[in-house]
Amino acid sequence: MNEVDKLTELFTQFPGIGPRQARRFVFFLLRQNTGYRAMLIRAIQDVATHVKQCSRCLRYAPLHVKEPLCDICADGNRDTTQLMLVEKDTDVEQMEHSGAYAGYYFVLGGSLSLTGKKYAIREKELVQYLQKYGAALSEIILALSATPDGEYTADYLATKLKDDASVQTARVTTLGRGLSTGSELEYADAHTLVQALKNRA
Ligand SMILES: [Zn+2]
Repeated sequence: MNEVDKLTELFTQFPGIGPRQARRFVFFLLRQNTGYRAMLIRAIQDVATHVKQCSRCLRYAPLHVKEPLCDICADGNRDTTQLMLVEKDTDVEQMEHSGAYAGYYFVLGGSLSLTGKKYAIREKELVQYLQKYGAALSEIILALSATPDGEYTADYLATKLKDDASVQTARVTTLGRGLSTGSELEYADAHTLVQALKNRA
């Protein structure tokens, strides 16, 4: 495998990037000057050094020096009675951008697949989270994508949460379908998210 093939292969592992796009990235990089490539290499190294997984919500964020928490989890003014379960780090960002939610988050790291192929959610970590913080919760919001996999995952989690002894007092809700079918949370605009949150049931 030559250098171009090797870098192409690495880019194809990015979400949503096919071989042709990956190859375009490689030739784009070759056309840039040395300064740009050095900056890119440095930025990748910096992000790996300074951005870590929050020990509470499990999203990737620049952490506080003293405690391994992101800015949201370290914020004592947020609503401890509300927890929102989302698939991805970018979903947290979108929801924060909407300004409609003031509780805490837990990032599942993906969704379950209807075909049963990739069981990729952080279920064990969620159980541990609930053991630690579950007693304070009055609501758990399932904020998954309006896709078949997202809905399947929401159903699965709703059933699991019903049997979870650490959260017996919390009601489990899902985002209202202001989100159009098939849409992923990260592509929803702020207005849609506000509506979806208002219409949760
Ligand atoms: Zn956090």
